[in-house]
This record gives sequence, structure tokens and C-alpha cells, in this order.
Amino acid sequence: MARIFAVANQKGGVGKTTTTVNLAAALAAHDQRVLLVDLDPQGNATMGSGVDKRSLGSSVYHLLVGLKTLPEVRARSENGGYDVLPANRDLAGAEVEMVDLDNRENRLRDALRTVDADYDFVLVDCPPSLSMLTLNGLCSAHGVIIPMQCEYYALEGLSDLVNTIKQVHAKLNRDLKIIGLLRVMFDPRSTLSQQVSAQLESHFGDKVFKAVIPRNVRLAEAPSHGLPGVVFDKAAKGSQAYLAFAAEMIERIQSL
Ligand code: ADP
Ligand code: MG
Repeated sequence: MARIFAVANQKGGVGKTTTTVNLAAALAAHDQRVLLVDLDPQGNATMGSGVDKRSLGSSVYHLLVGLKTLPEVRARSENGGYDVLPANRDLAGAEVEMVDLDNRENRLRDALRTVDADYDFVLVDCPPSLSMLTLNGLCSAHGVIIPMQCEYYALEGLSDLVNTIKQVHAKLNRDLKIIGLLRVMFDPRSTLSQQVSAQLESHFGDKVFKAVIPRNVRLAEAPSHGLPGVVFDKAAKGSQAYLAFAAEMIERIQSL
């Protein structure tokens, strides 16, 4: 049975896509069968996986509005070693079109059920909003991975996200839980980073992942080569941190 995780945070630029792409490739490197779902019309996870968003015959948009089946939409990240449900700007229109559809918050969940036996992990890269697309991610998932930068404002947005997750849990998806908070773009020399990190640990305890992703330029360079960082430069500190995070995820799902 596939374990489905939404990578979510309504803020932009906090490392959702970098985390989704690198976790997918790192899990694949640990011999896991992985499907990455790009739910952001920007298509960054698609491009970062080496799939060209400009030349897609069909995309996750077609899946959500019921024009195509999952196998028809699925692409492969050859270098990453995982499958991709790719996205591009077509997806921006899905939100409006889905208004008239039955069961619109469960379109992704229903599609993923058809491939449940084919994967160990499904990772959903959510857009930077609490929209119908993000709601589809949350309704399909067993858990949420929240990437966070350890800066002052990071904690402010967190309560909105936690409340949204609680509401989805109460009304739409009893399986949903926060699997963990992932500290990303971490700078160990910054006192503020250390303080916020300590605050997170005291508030959230073991919901804070042990793995910490450092700020590392190799992770930022990799997408321009159409490669996950862990493939582009496996030895880089950031890549090693994502490989450690993948091992931690594999361990965590044993107890879910
Ligand atoms: P989001 O998907 O939340 O908008 P991204 O993953 O696209 O965020 O990251 C935002 C920017 O930060 C991108 O330019 C990305 O390359 C960069 N970035 C993300 N994580 C790291 C990191 N650990 N070290 C250096 N740069 C990073
Ligand atoms: Mg993104």
C-alpha cells in the first residue's frame, strides 16, 4: 500500500518543491517505488525532475478534471528514478473548472487509489496557498510534511496551516496527520536559526524531524540542469541531508 504525503506550507519559497523533488530521488536511491505529484501550476517540481512542462501532452490538470486517467498522464524522471504526474500552467484553470464537479476535493485521492499497489511513497508538491489544489493534496494524504525556514516569521504562518490541517482532519480526511516539520535552508551559524529551531523542538517535540537540511547552493543549482540535487551532486551537504531525511521517512512509516 502506498503511503501518501503532502508537502505543504502556504508560504512561497520555503523549500516545498526542493524537498519534494529531493525526497523523491532520495527515496528512489533507497530502493523505494515513488510517485511525485506536482500540484503547482508553476510546474517547478516537473522541471526539476527533468520533465519538460512545455511539451506535455497531458498533465495533472487533465487527471483532476476527469479528461485522462492516471497512466495516461504519468511521466518518468529517468535520472531521479521515480514517476511524475506533471503540471504546467493549464493547472491554474483547474480550480475554476472543478467548482462544478462532484466530490471536487477528492479528485486526486480517487485517482491515486487506482495505483495504490504500484508505489511505496506518493509525494504531493502543493502550491503556496490553501486552495482547492492544496485541499486535494491534503484529502489524498496520510500525512503532511511541513518544510520550514527557521526565521522569525516562519512561526506566524504555521498556526494557520496547523488549523487548516485540523479542519481537514475533522471534516474530510480522518487519516490526515502532521508527520513532521522539516527544518530547511538551515544556517547553523545564525543565532536566530538556533533559537527558532529550539522553539520548534519544545512546541512540537518528536514531530520535528531529526534530519536538518542546510542551506546549500548545490540544491539551488540542480533544477537548472533538470536534476534533483541528490542526483546532480550526491556528495553535497544538502544532498546528504535529504538522503538522511529519506531514511528517517522510511523508518517513520513503519510506525504509522
Ligand atoms: P517553494 O516550493 O516552497 O516555493 P522552493 O523549493 O522552490 O520553495 O525553494 C525556493 C528557492 O530556494 C529556490 O530557488 C530553491 O532553489 C532555493 N532553495 C530551497 N532549498 C534550499 C536549500 N536547502 N539551500 C539553498 N537553496 C535552497
Ligand atoms: Mg514550489
